[in-house]
Amino acid sequence: MDQSKIDALRALPVPAFHHLIDGKHVPASDGGTLDIISPIDGQVLTTTAAGTAADMEAAITSARAAFEDGCWSSQAPAARKKVLMKWADLIEANALELAVLGVRDNGTEIGMALKAEPGSAAATIRYYAEALDKIYGEIAPTAGDVLGLIHKEPVGVVGAIIPWNFPMMIGAWKLGPALAMGNSVVLKPSETASLSLMRMADLALEAGLPPGVLNAVTGEGRVVGETLGLSMDVDVLVFTGSGGTGRRLMDYAARSNMKRVYLELGGKSPNIVFADAPNLDEAAKVAAAGIFRNSGQVCVAGSRLLIEAPIHDDFVAAVAKAAEAMRVGDPLRIDTHIGAVNSEVQLTANLGFVDTATAEGGQIVTGGHRILQETGGYYMAPTIVTGVTRDATLAQKEVFGPVLGVTPFATDDEAISLANSTVYGLAGAAWTANLSRAHRMIKSVRTGVMHINTYGGADGTVPVGGVGQSGNGSDKSLHAIEKYVNLKTAWIKL
Ligand code: NAD
Repeated sequence: MDQSKIDALRALPVPAFHHLIDGKHVPASDGGTLDIISPIDGQVLTTTAAGTAADMEAAITSARAAFEDGCWSSQAPAARKKVLMKWADLIEANALELAVLGVRDNGTEIGMALKAEPGSAAATIRYYAEALDKIYGEIAPTAGDVLGLIHKEPVGVVGAIIPWNFPMMIGAWKLGPALAMGNSVVLKPSETASLSLMRMADLALEAGLPPGVLNAVTGEGRVVGETLGLSMDVDVLVFTGSGGTGRRLMDYAARSNMKRVYLELGGKSPNIVFADAPNLDEAAKVAAAGIFRNSGQVCVAGSRLLIEAPIHDDFVAAVAKAAEAMRVGDPLRIDTHIGAVNSEVQLTANLGFVDTATAEGGQIVTGGHRILQETGGYYMAPTIVTGVTRDATLAQKEVFGPVLGVTPFATDDEAISLANSTVYGLAGAAWTANLSRAHRMIKSVRTGVMHINTYGGADGTVPVGGVGQSGNGSDKSLHAIEKYVNLKTAWIKL
């Protein structure tokens, strides 16, 4: 990474953003705009269109028309592949520009953003582009006088609602398989991180995606998101975000056309450290990175540290040392380890969790407060709280911030019981040199992803998805394709 290039890009003014509907950039139908506040300094960076219900309806109509027209849905797979491959190339060619724009919008440290946002988005789009002409239908093992064929058809119009923590990465997790299978998509980015994803959508059209196949509408969730959710003309809703919004989407589906709803929600992921872990110093550093990078705004963040009692104090000290060594600050400096919290609302919520944790008997080992207030930006010191009991708020509720709760355990059974004591089931980890214990943890901890002797970093070849109230369905890998196809049976009498 070249600091001078980043500095040059951050100095550029950011133009006002409009919707992308039917291949054109259009303002909100009533002219409304939303101020986009940069978490780096709390200043207005630009505006986006504050979408209206009518804007969302227009986007859905365009997506439906494009789907029925067959300009994409009936294209030969090889033709779709070519466009998606070009799109991935364009994302890569514009990676730094996209990453800097995204960081100015959402505050993620640039080192992580460059890799996790355009880097990961391009890899994901390419993965599904490469896969799409290798996915076959099936011939069923029927009796000889009939032929049973199973076709995989696109579902139609997909509504994709995206959160603010990794907009391009998570956007690509939905767009890649949805478009690869021939669907049209209406994208609804988050109010507080839409810019890089909107630019990425423009690049799809530049790559040759026909107008209307991908529409993107900005604005408030309770306005445009609700219209998308309640639409009679959207066939599948795919969502990443909070449980509260996920519940609403299920309700919208029930109240409208019973569209399929796939939810990737929050977590309270346990990171379990046994005294026999192969390298406790390394484990402490990875545990700190696993909760504090991107200011803890990572769905799979290891936010509960469960430590075997005999090593509790030493391990907490090692994690605190690693946390204190992480530089928090301007996310566009390449030597920054932790950037800004996404918004003032999120920062206030994080600090509220710390107050509750101490009121419930927890002790702050490090952090616990806002820092760098003089910048006008939203920064928080990495925070570790010990003495967090099984039922404490910090053990049960997702913070989505740089706050780690620590709980000791005495036995394997107690570790498993603590790990499974929340409504969530997104990710987890166990650190141990004992192979049998590692496999027992994989089987017994209820999660979608279980790490052993590491935390995070799983690539696009494996699914990510939750169990319990962490969601249903999964993103990434070939398994994600199931969400974007209908199975159609042809039963033929011979
Ligand atoms: P959020 O639910 O507030 O918002 C997500 C999206 O939903 C935004 O685009 C928002 O505009 C939209 N929305 C809000 N209200 C809506 C409504 N009434 N109808 C339709 N759409 C609406 O979530 P967030 O704060 O942006 O993201 C943080 C959450 O996302 C955390 O809980 C985090 O754990 C979760 N997350 C999960 C994963 C995963 O893969 N499981 C990944 C990243 C983030």
